[in-house]
Amino acid sequence: MQILSVLMEQGARALAESFTYLYEGEETLEPYIRLRVLFAGKMRIGFLEKSEKTTEKRGDIEKRLGFSPHVVNKEDIIDEAPILDENLVSLAKKVSEYYMAPLITVFQAMLPPSLTPRTASLKKPQISYEKIVVPLSFDETNLTPKQIELMRSLAHGPILKKDVSSTSALEGCLKKGRCKIVLQERKKRKAYFGEKEEAHSLLPMQKQAMEDILSSSQNVVLLQGVTGSGKTEVYLHLSEKILSSGGNVLMLVPEINLTPRMVEYFQRRFGDQVAVLHSELSDGERYEEYRRIKRGEASIVIGARSAVFAPLPHIALIILDEEHVDSYKQENMPHYHAREVAIWRGEQEGAKVVLGSATPSLESKARANKGVYGYTEMKERVSGKPLPQATIIDMRKKENRFKDSQKISLPLAKKMKEKLSSHEQCLLLLNRRGYWVGVECASCGHLFLCPVCGSSLTYHFEDSLLKCHHCGHVELYPKYCPICGKVNFRRVGYGTERLTEEIKRLFPEATVERLDSDVASSKKRMEGILQDFRNHKIDILVGTQMIAKGHDFPDVGLSALVDADIGLSIPGYRSSERVFNLVCQMIGRAGRSKIAGEALVQTYNPQFSAIALGAKQDYETFYQKEMKVRKEGGNPPYRYLLLLSYLSHKVERAEEAVFETKEALMKEDFPSFRALGPIDPYYKEIDGRFRKSLLLTAKDMNPIKIKVKELAEKYLKMGISYDIDVDPLDS
Ligand code: ADP
Ligand code: ZN
Repeated sequence: MQILSVLMEQGARALAESFTYLYEGEETLEPYIRLRVLFAGKMRIGFLEKSEKTTEKRGDIEKRLGFSPHVVNKEDIIDEAPILDENLVSLAKKVSEYYMAPLITVFQAMLPPSLTPRTASLKKPQISYEKIVVPLSFDETNLTPKQIELMRSLAHGPILKKDVSSTSALEGCLKKGRCKIVLQERKKRKAYFGEKEEAHSLLPMQKQAMEDILSSSQNVVLLQGVTGSGKTEVYLHLSEKILSSGGNVLMLVPEINLTPRMVEYFQRRFGDQVAVLHSELSDGERYEEYRRIKRGEASIVIGARSAVFAPLPHIALIILDEEHVDSYKQENMPHYHAREVAIWRGEQEGAKVVLGSATPSLESKARANKGVYGYTEMKERVSGKPLPQATIIDMRKKENRFKDSQKISLPLAKKMKEKLSSHEQCLLLLNRRGYWVGVECASCGHLFLCPVCGSSLTYHFEDSLLKCHHCGHVELYPKYCPICGKVNFRRVGYGTERLTEEIKRLFPEATVERLDSDVASSKKRMEGILQDFRNHKIDILVGTQMIAKGHDFPDVGLSALVDADIGLSIPGYRSSERVFNLVCQMIGRAGRSKIAGEALVQTYNPQFSAIALGAKQDYETFYQKEMKVRKEGGNPPYRYLLLLSYLSHKVERAEEAVFETKEALMKEDFPSFRALGPIDPYYKEIDGRFRKSLLLTAKDMNPIKIKVKELAEKYLKMGISYDIDVDPLDS
């Protein structure tokens, strides 16, 4: 007889404790396999945490435990061998403990969909087929707004079924005969047969950085290199060195779609040794790539956040490119940050960890300054050209106004004209997608708000729909005001769509394209635009922050931030750091080769240091100033934060739980402890449940965490679920 401890998930809620089952089979069950278990009257997928052989009789066990555990049958054992090795399990435990998330949620974040301990995973394909949605008729009569949105997106060509965001809309369209689903066998993983490329020889600056990294007594080294300083080439050389001494390399990037270049560079240099963990891969492909890594057939893994858990053995180097980017932090439980996990993994494997950025996060820079991390920098561009000079345009000044446009100033319009006539490209960044940002009734002032979450709805010209950018709700553009019946709408604000249209009007001879997450929902379209821009088939590219990220476009002569103020009004201790980064990244896109490059920043707040110093790319001064602000505000890296949220169908219950938790924590007299709340988080309502949060800060969070867990578990038993975000980025 064996006594099994099984972890599992009940509905959407992960259960923190494990449950006991019995197994009568002869063979010893190894931990970390999946098995089917009966729980609360239903078959579920569990994850075996521990098994213990015993000579005890079943009756005695029941007597000792005080209940009779279910018996697991042989045919309910799913995996023959553990799907996680010991190192990854101990890493998972560390993540679970630090981020205060049930272990099962960490396993779910770690494993590809086909292997996650979830009921749905068993239905996931292990061989690759894909379902595609093919349009049959574009007749819109009797369709709902969501269905119309879907059909209009199909106008660009068939899409993968898994990419359809609303399954109900899809079902509706299928029923109404507007589209059909076709099963198509996917091409097997494409082996890389491209030409291999020889390494560039490093510039002295790059060589120095590489030596600093390798010789540093610290395991973690911050590589601060200005935009265009050739960090990628340093990563490639480091990787080569590590590979030749028998180690493997884990390369993390913020978003793989936006950095096809990184994958390309690595494949050209290292060929088929490179495995790519791509969120766009189908479940089958991801499973295949995962297995290939596990079998030891790849020596370099490139991927985004979750690739930090790749089952790559013998890791000797972990690189995190653009370490300051927020997408390294997972938005739901476990709210882990890939940078922290990479550092733990590095410790575990004895690997060097390189954090690369032009504008390091304040946390990392502070640690480097304290000597906790090693440090090396590259202050110049490979091209030898100086960083472009950014001119700030004060939008409050009359002389800067341009009568033909609300959003484009006179200096910007002139500069664009000049650049276009000398055959240079322009990048225009407006960090807000859509056409108008809001729509209101000009007669009665009724503002069109999202009925689901209350945010203002954005008008999208392309498909003539109102969309909510927070929760994804869509509706048809109204014909008349639901309050007063008039048809006089006022549109407020500007989004990328409207800006694009305006640029086309102002520069009719130029080729203008737009890139934002609406466009990027089609991977093909996005890749096409990036490639066309690189090949200079596009003169002006308008987009959101997507266009500022790490791209290397050689012919960009002008890069402009159309509205630098957008992020400033968003509350949160990191808002100015984000604005600073955006300004720097944007400027960094210009003048990356022969062309010197210029940058313009339009703002109504030229006095703000995030903007003024960003325009000068003066990281050092910004760092010093912002660290003072953080110290005064009691924010990281001076203090640790923890955001505890309660969720309940009744808003009063969530609020009560916050008040009671706050009181209980205050009673404990933790040193340097502060509690703020109840506060309304950004997303107040999720799936009909209300959220109320409590923000905790302290110089040492460890003793507090224990108590928080205890309290949160208490409310969970009372039917109020919780979400704990350790080291939140937004608060
Ligand atoms: P960063 O990531 O630091 O912004 P990149 O890695 O994109 O910079 O490098 C900028 C450009 O310089 C790229 O086009 C790259 O191919 C080129 N480059 C980098 N190192 C070298 C080198 N040693 N010799 C020649 N070209 C280089
Ligand atoms: Zn909404």
